[in-house]
Amino acid sequence: MDTEEAWTPEAEAAAVKEPPKIHRLEESVVNRIAAGEVIQRPVSAVKELVENSLDANATSINVVVKDGGLKLIQVSDDGHGIRYEDLPILCERHTTSKLSKYEDLQSIKSMGFRGEALASMTYVGHVTVTTITKGHLHGYRVSYRDGVMESEPKACAAVKGTQIMVENLFYNMIARRKTLQNSSDDYTKIVDLLSRMAIHHTNVSFSCRKHGAARADVHSIATSSRLDSIRTVYGVSVASNLVQLEASEYNDSSSFVFKMDGYVSNSNYVAKKTTMVLFVNDRLVECAPLKRAVEIVYAATFPKASKPFIYMSIVLPPEHVDVNVHPTKREVSLLNQELIVEKIQSAVELKLRQSNDSRTYKEQTVESSPSSPYNPSKDLHLNPSGSKLQKVPVNKMVRTDSSDPAGRLHAYVQSKPHTSVASGPNLSAVRSSVRQRRNLNETADLTSIQELIDDVDRNCHSGLLDIVRHCSFIGMADDVYALLQHNTHMYLANVVSLSKELMYQLVLRRFAHFNAIQLSDPAPLSELLMLALKEEDLDMENSENDDLKEKIAEMNTELLKQKAEMLEEYFCVKIDTRGNLSRLPIILDQYTPDMDRIPEFVLCLGNDVDWEDEKCCFQAIAAALGNFYAMHPPLLPNPSGEGLQCYKKRKPLKNPVDIERYPNDAGDNVENEDEIEHQLLAEAEAAWAQREWSIQHVLFPAMRLFLKPLNSMATNGTFVKVASLEKLYKIFERC
Ligand code: ADP
Ligand code: MG
Repeated sequence: MDTEEAWTPEAEAAAVKEPPKIHRLEESVVNRIAAGEVIQRPVSAVKELVENSLDANATSINVVVKDGGLKLIQVSDDGHGIRYEDLPILCERHTTSKLSKYEDLQSIKSMGFRGEALASMTYVGHVTVTTITKGHLHGYRVSYRDGVMESEPKACAAVKGTQIMVENLFYNMIARRKTLQNSSDDYTKIVDLLSRMAIHHTNVSFSCRKHGAARADVHSIATSSRLDSIRTVYGVSVASNLVQLEASEYNDSSSFVFKMDGYVSNSNYVAKKTTMVLFVNDRLVECAPLKRAVEIVYAATFPKASKPFIYMSIVLPPEHVDVNVHPTKREVSLLNQELIVEKIQSAVELKLRQSNDSRTYKEQTVESSPSSPYNPSKDLHLNPSGSKLQKVPVNKMVRTDSSDPAGRLHAYVQSKPHTSVASGPNLSAVRSSVRQRRNLNETADLTSIQELIDDVDRNCHSGLLDIVRHCSFIGMADDVYALLQHNTHMYLANVVSLSKELMYQLVLRRFAHFNAIQLSDPAPLSELLMLALKEEDLDMENSENDDLKEKIAEMNTELLKQKAEMLEEYFCVKIDTRGNLSRLPIILDQYTPDMDRIPEFVLCLGNDVDWEDEKCCFQAIAAALGNFYAMHPPLLPNPSGEGLQCYKKRKPLKNPVDIERYPNDAGDNVENEDEIEHQLLAEAEAAWAQREWSIQHVLFPAMRLFLKPLNSMATNGTFVKVASLEKLYKIFERC
């Protein structure tokens, strides 16, 4: 036993004093390792083979798969075929007809260029090629292993083009085969790949089926219309919910930076996950930043249809695409990627907003001027019936509704206020007019929301926008200010006012498209209002009597009940018939507001909203929501600073006001006086930690994408420049 000790790394290190010898790997080993990289799964082999067929100018490509591709992959095309004299080196590594010198890569148009795909397949599977070239009476068939022909090519009957068969893929890679056992999964991937190829290469017909199956799972026919092709491959439900999209960028010399055209889904398309079919210079690729950027726009515009279908074809000058960054060419690196992503994101955003406008902004007040300056003219194009000005269908509707003609007509007549408190008849009149138009599937537009959005856009400070988009969050400097770095500058930014503005802007953008937070216990408005009024009293140090407060609460409850329908439909603030608040909107995913602030919010709705004027009304409601959802410091004092002493008191204190008010409140149980309120402290710690997490992971990412910082923020203390790193560096350098 003393000679054969157990192996340990230490023992080996001690035993081997010399460095290990370096030797040359056998070529077959090198090739197999490399092949494993190019052909990662059956679907990678299919992709390479189909790309070869496309490069051979095929107009028809048929794929047959057995056992998810592990048993058999067969790709047949009607392309130009392979010359007899090339067959001996066809499957050697680095043999290609598509590239001669490195510089050719700059302008390469073909899919392939490495001359590695077929070779790789012969190292990890058995490859048989049957091919015929134009003008020949018969074709040839030959099998390959490890890069070389197994025997001389045999003459055989053949139809135009090439058929390549790969059998027993990964027969010599046990581990790989094992991990790929789930063959149905790979077949799905293959079908998915061919579907994508099919909708891009509309001039080629594709089919894909399982070996022995009569029916093809993908079957496209060559067509001149992309939409037709999407319909054939992805079905009517997808094709009928797409809008066309274009974007491009030219630089000064009028040469183009990029051009993009595509189709993206509208708000009726609801799916569990995003489908993004992206081609860059005709290559099927993935681009995670672009996908994410588009998804974000959807999440903001159509929260209920936030997983879109996207087909995009981007064309760039070939010298701007580095196709050689990924062994399977799945990813490409683009010059100006950031700019391209940003441009496309804006184009999608604009398109969705337009389609959203024409679909949702139906609530044009009858009396408002049709020539509003901010009325987006495109809406009118999208709405060829011109229903905004066209009253005919509504008139028709009145006539045909024999049961209650007046009931229909009243939508266009100003009704009298019901009570002295609720003196805002316009909206309810408009509301019912909207209902009816919507029933007729008509569209109009609601300019006031668009005006508010335009106001925001107009007041946007471009310098701050740049800071918000590109800053890094360093941490919270105190309860309100976050420390940010942008280039070489440090800023303090007031998270309360920033989050307030962000929420306000998001409410405008998501108008009428909110997901809901359901309150587990619907809260009676009257109680919420009383709470808020009492709180206000404490702040003001002037207490009105409770009777008066009850009166105010009651009136406000009535008022809000009357506005309930509008609040629910546009803002997802639901008040049930008994006057309970039961639902709130999700303004930002993964974020719920501090529910302790509901009373204040409800009071604000009751007191601060001018229900008469549509624009002011929407603005005030959005502002009230903004204030409610803003990331205020939690009501419990911050236990990590001086606030800690608050938790040494016996009595649970709600907020710093209480601390001032009861500074020496010893109460009866004097012996507990100095003990820490553990539960309360834990609660406070959780609340503060949660807030900081939300600020970093929810607020800042969302601000980067959505916030348009206002001009006023540059001067009102929202942003304060604290230091320039260059100067700090100089100071420290001197130390
Ligand atoms: P690459 O596509 O990078 O050139 P491959 O190993 O995929 O390398 O293919 C090697 C060569 O075989 C190609 O350059 C092409 O000339 C030829 N070839 C492969 N598949 C076909 C096909 N289906 N039809 C015609 N020629 C083909
Ligand atoms: Mg190839």
